[in-house]
Amino acid sequence: MTRNYDPVWKCIYCGETKEVLGKEHIVPLSLFGTIVLPRSSCDNCGKLTSQIERIANEKLFHSIRLIHNFPSRKPGERPTCLTFQSKIGTVLAPISNSFGTYPIFKLNEPGFLINHTKFDFDWVGCSLNSITIKPQDPALFKQFNSWTFSQEFDINTYAKLMVKIAHGFASAELDIDNFDAWIPDILLNNKEELLPYVVGSLPNEDSPSNHTYELNYSIYPWEGGEGINHFIQVKIRLFAYMGGPTTTVIVGTTSNEGLDRIRKKIERNQFLNMVGKVTKAYEPITINVVR
Ligand SMILES: [Zn+2]
Repeated sequence: MTRNYDPVWKCIYCGETKEVLGKEHIVPLSLFGTIVLPRSSCDNCGKLTSQIERIANEKLFHSIRLIHNFPSRKPGERPTCLTFQSKIGTVLAPISNSFGTYPIFKLNEPGFLINHTKFDFDWVGCSLNSITIKPQDPALFKQFNSWTFSQEFDINTYAKLMVKIAHGFASAELDIDNFDAWIPDILLNNKEELLPYVVGSLPNEDSPSNHTYELNYSIYPWEGGEGINHFIQVKIRLFAYMGGPTTTVIVGTTSNEGLDRIRKKIERNQFLNMVGKVTKAYEPITINVVR
């Protein structure tokens, strides 16, 4: 079931208010996203975020989306086979009986949490595993002595998808005017070098849950100085039903006054029953939205 937030009437990326504004699926529709922020992205920024979504689907989630029958904007163009290479040539396996993979990026903590004044973090020390989806009937593959299939896993693409989701979620839940958002600058100016500063994993082991995805945020006190007293951290878990990892994004900072406005916004959200339960009323404030 789709859940709509109040319309923003402003592009949450570039601030444009004059254009006709489109809606933003916070988690892409192609990943079973069901929460929508209406009137929140201009044409240009909408193109940018759709491109991130498209590349992520190609480079990260190609086989799992097909095998688990995720939604597609163009269902008529959905492939019916996945391609493998064997000694005797190319093998086409039907989607209903195919191997697939899903990436598990184990990132470092966001650089911000390690040293907030140092910006030159990189992905060194991060690792990639993948979950293999097994075919229902492996006999089809037994006739080939060996076979391979290729799947790209691109860490910057993954991180960009995470910051896009985190920014949309924070804008919807907290109101874009109530915090100093960092993500638009990174996305609009393609500052890939800042991704390891704001994106990371949390040192926890995740067991599968019943949800397609899970989102929540926390607001923590911060001694950043100059009237900036809090930072906002969003946690994202895609493919939670498969045991997908939790990735976290630092989306920005806010002042004491900003936090007061955020509290009022959260109370209103609760009143409207737009989101799940508030687990803590004071810092860190955490709200879970699950599908
Ligand atoms: Zn825009």
